[in-house]
Amino acid sequence: MLPVAFFDTKSYDRQSFMAAPDADSIDWRWHEFRLGSETLAASEGVRAVCVFVNDKLDRPVLAALAAAGVKHVALRCAGFNNVDLNAARELGLTVTRVPAYSPHAVAEHTVALLQTLNRKIHRAYNRVREQNFSLKGLVGFDLCGKTVGIAGTGKIGRIVAKIFRGYDAKVIAYDPFPDAAWAAANGVEYVAFDALLARSDIVSLHLPLTPETHHLLNAGTIARMKPGAYVVNTSRGKLIDTTALIQHLKTGRLGGVALDVYEEEEGLFFEDHSGEILQDDELNLLLSFANVLITSHQAFLTQEALRAIAAVTVDNIHRLERGEAPLPGTGL
Ligand code: NAD
Repeated sequence: MLPVAFFDTKSYDRQSFMAAPDADSIDWRWHEFRLGSETLAASEGVRAVCVFVNDKLDRPVLAALAAAGVKHVALRCAGFNNVDLNAARELGLTVTRVPAYSPHAVAEHTVALLQTLNRKIHRAYNRVREQNFSLKGLVGFDLCGKTVGIAGTGKIGRIVAKIFRGYDAKVIAYDPFPDAAWAAANGVEYVAFDALLARSDIVSLHLPLTPETHHLLNAGTIARMKPGAYVVNTSRGKLIDTTALIQHLKTGRLGGVALDVYEEEEGLFFEDHSGEILQDDELNLLLSFANVLITSHQAFLTQEALRAIAAVTVDNIHRLERGEAPLPGTGL
C-alpha cells in the first residue's frame, strides 16, 4: 500500500477521496491539522502529501519533506500561491494541482452570493422565520441592464460572464490576455482595467493571486469605482486591501461587498470558531455591516467538484508512483 499523508482533512474530503477510482490501494494517513513547520513529523515515511489552500509549503517545509523522502506534493485545489514552486523544483519535488475541477461550482456560487446580498435573501430568511413579514430595508436592484465587470476571463470568469448575460446584464471584462473571439461570441466587451472600474455596477474578481495582483483593489482603485458599486470576490482574499475596503464601506462609496475569500482567512476559514472571541478586528467590522456577505471559502464545495478533485489527485498519485508524468495541465 502506498502511504500518503492527507492534511487539513474534512469529512467531505475523506468521503470523496475514499470513493475515487483506485483509492483503496493507498494507505491514507488522515490528519485534521494543516501541514507546516510544526506538523512535519506527520509526513515521515510517506511518498506523497495531499494538501489544500491553507497548508504552508515554504522552502524550509519543502526541504524537510524532500529530506524525509517525500516525492510528490499533491494540491487538491487550483490555486498554488501557498507553495514555493522554485524551492520545490530545486529540491526535486513534483507539485501537482487540480486546475479545473468545476469552474461551474465557483461561478454559480459567485452569482448566488451577489444575488443573496442584492436581494437580501439572508435577511429575509431570518425575518420570516421570526414571523416578521415586513419588507422594510429589503429593496434590491434588477441585474437586467446593469453593467458587470469581470476581472479575469479564465475558466471561472467566462462562466460568470455567461450567467450574468443570462440576466440581460451588460458584461464588460478585463484580462491581460483577452480572447476576442470568445468575447464576440458571448456579447462581452473587453475594456482597460480603469474603464472596468469606472463603468461597472458590479466588479467580480476571477484572477489568480500573484505579486502583480496583490491588493488589486486598494484605496486608489476602489476610489475609481462607480459610487455605490458592488464588489464580489470568490478568488483570493489578498486581491483586496481589506483596510481600504472597510474605509470605502464606511463612507458609503461601495454599495455592497460579497466575499468567499478573505485576506486573513488562514487559520479561521474552514473551522468552527463559534463560541470563541474573534480576534480579527477587521473581520469583526466586516461582519457587522448589513451590506457585506461572507462565506468561508465554500465556492468550490459541490458534489461534482469534490468528485473531480479526488479523481484527478488520486490518478496523479498513482501516475507519479509508476514514474509517469502527471495528467496534462496538472503539473506545476
Ligand atoms: P484561470 O487561470 O482559468 O483564469 C485566470 C485568468 O486571470 C486568466 O485569463 C488570466 O489571464 C487572468 N489574469 C491574470 N492576471 C490578471 C490581471 N492582473 N487582471 C485581470 N486578469 C488577470 O483561473 P480560474 O480557474 O478561472 O480561477 C480564478 C480564481 O478563482 C483563482 O484565483 C483561483 O484561485 C480562484 N478559485 C477560488 C475557489 C473558491 O473556492 N473560492 C475555487 C477555485 C478557484
